[in-house]
Amino acid sequence: MKGTMLYGPRDVRFEERLDPEIIEPTDAILQISAACVCGSDLWSYRGIAEVTQPQAMGHEYCGIVQEVGSEVRHIKPGQFVVGSFWASDNTCPICQAGYQSRCVDARGMGGAQAGWLRVPLADGTLVATPELPPDDLIPSLVSASDVLGTGWFGADAAEAGPGKTVAVVGDGAVGLCAVLAARQMGAERIIAMSRHEDRQKLALEFGATDIVTERGDEGVARIKDMTDGLGAHSVVEAVGTQESMMQAMQSARPGGHVGFVGVFHGMQLPAMDLFWSTVHLHGGPAPVRQCLPHLIDLIWSRKINPGKVFDLTLPLEQAAEGYRAMDERRAIKALLRP
Ligand SMILES: [Zn+2]
Repeated sequence: MKGTMLYGPRDVRFEERLDPEIIEPTDAILQISAACVCGSDLWSYRGIAEVTQPQAMGHEYCGIVQEVGSEVRHIKPGQFVVGSFWASDNTCPICQAGYQSRCVDARGMGGAQAGWLRVPLADGTLVATPELPPDDLIPSLVSASDVLGTGWFGADAAEAGPGKTVAVVGDGAVGLCAVLAARQMGAERIIAMSRHEDRQKLALEFGATDIVTERGDEGVARIKDMTDGLGAHSVVEAVGTQESMMQAMQSARPGGHVGFVGVFHGMQLPAMDLFWSTVHLHGGPAPVRQCLPHLIDLIWSRKINPGKVFDLTLPLEQAAEGYRAMDERRAIKALLRP
């Protein structure tokens, strides 16, 4: 098969790779129907996260099960499945508490930007759709694998819900999905912080009630102005920089909740700012597996259309162009189809 490899900064190659095989009896092999480029892939693409050896890229995926190992009980060949970007057993105490991304046997996924993919812990990781999906649902289904699940966790961790004012810092695909999630959770007011017209438009379509274009201290001041000087009840941080995290913490009112799902690089949280903020912080790698059945239901019944975050669709062999387009902010998110 062919797959996408990152050799170093801005060096993406689509090249011949070994076909994946069942290694452990709990594995499944999928034929990939769709994969995508993640904002977090850009950290290594840009050289901010060091690439010490060629990396098999892609951790967002959906596809058709081709083969399962001898101990796989529930997932069957022929099923269409969506999986999380962390494989998990879904049975340990951490999984049962709803934190599958930190399963005692968690395995980070990689190599999904390819024709085929090996998924460990298949029964715990994969969720099957009721039947084979129509083609127009595939973008939304693959979004559930990471960006939608991550935005959902961000909104949930920020305790978005009825009567709440929710501010979302970050207008990438995850931030936009957090807006959609906050709407589904019944938030009263949803403020999307965005400076890009196309992303503002999608945020409004996903359920934002207000747009704030200011950033940093000015952005915080705008949120305070809009909330009687108090700050938002709930803030989702979906970027992962020092500025965005400080903006999120300071935009929340005392006693409020900040859900942080951006992947941080070189961030320092000043202890006194944290102390005086008096906010609840909850975040980390999203336990997508927890909400996956619910997200698939919402997509299957066409109540939500998160696939709209993909504003670029490319054949898999043009994965490098997907990275370039996202790096240069020509695209919010690139969908890759074999
Ligand atoms: Zn577990």
